[in-house]
Amino acid sequence: MSITKIIYETRSLNSPITQRVFKQFSHLPHIEIENLNDHWGRVKKPYLEKRTDLHLYLGVRPAPHIKLAPDAYGISRNQEHEPHYYFIHAYNCVYECEYCYLQGHFQTPDLVLFVNHDDILKSIEEQIQLTPHAWFHAGEFSDSLALSSLTQEWREYFELFQRYPSAQLELRTKSHNIQSIINLTPAPNIHVTFSLSPEKASATYDLKTPSLLKRLDAIKKLVGHGFTIGIHFDPIIIETNTQAQYEELILSLKNVLPDTQLSYLSLGVVRFTDNVWAQVKKNYPDSPLMAQTLIESFDNKWRSPRPIRTWHLGKIREQLLNFGYSNDKIYFCME
Ligand code: SF4
Repeated sequence: MSITKIIYETRSLNSPITQRVFKQFSHLPHIEIENLNDHWGRVKKPYLEKRTDLHLYLGVRPAPHIKLAPDAYGISRNQEHEPHYYFIHAYNCVYECEYCYLQGHFQTPDLVLFVNHDDILKSIEEQIQLTPHAWFHAGEFSDSLALSSLTQEWREYFELFQRYPSAQLELRTKSHNIQSIINLTPAPNIHVTFSLSPEKASATYDLKTPSLLKRLDAIKKLVGHGFTIGIHFDPIIIETNTQAQYEELILSLKNVLPDTQLSYLSLGVVRFTDNVWAQVKKNYPDSPLMAQTLIESFDNKWRSPRPIRTWHLGKIREQLLNFGYSNDKIYFCME
């Protein structure tokens, strides 16, 4: 990891997370600050500096701790009664996917770990009491499991959602680091979800992430422990042999994840806001992503033209059905 400095808010000092980070990175400078907002992202830092000079901030996240997710964010069974929220427990990521929207979203790639999980859990519980069937997604601004051996927050979330079985929790990841959750008690309303791409796409675009094989192995282990697993084929990057690559991916997935333990599977094509696309072009000018044909679409994001993406999404859905996955578990994301 290219972390070079630990910067912590005074009020986060006594948190067990801060103490574990200090221990793990005892060889690095630790700098105390009064307020995260006066420092993190105040000066624009080039995204690719994350490769050589990444700072790790520890702080207390002020309210709001949860936010309503955009339309078509998660599976829609009865959307009126199942609103989707994401909660904010961290910013930025140790991995470096070339299409990652974080590169155009924040002013800096520096990591933030929020240590006040009690406040986040309280906000979630209050929302569940208002909307008992709500979904809560982690991983909107970071990877849920990549640093979880350090943060070790998920036990308390599992306990909360076991008390409220009508509400749903999603932990979304590209990591194979399942050490902090594998011995927790699984529940049907707690979904550990993996973003997967075919092996070649993953090796090309998902820089520094665990390989597809490692992620499939993590899925296999969690399935063996009784977890319900969600899958995101997102982003799908349309190339010349996309269908053959997805057929191979689905075959490998079917070997580790039976339909009975699949909670849902989303399909979404690669898409960019203006900002993010400008950053991708700047950061990865030699990427095969530059060969994509993208047009500005209904929500002002750049995607493949509708007939092309609809055809590919439909074909991949058909392949999933052919391999025995249930139609009602498959949805198109942000379409
Ligand atoms: S794993 Fe997710 S958050 Fe991390 S770099 Fe890749 S796309 Fe971004």
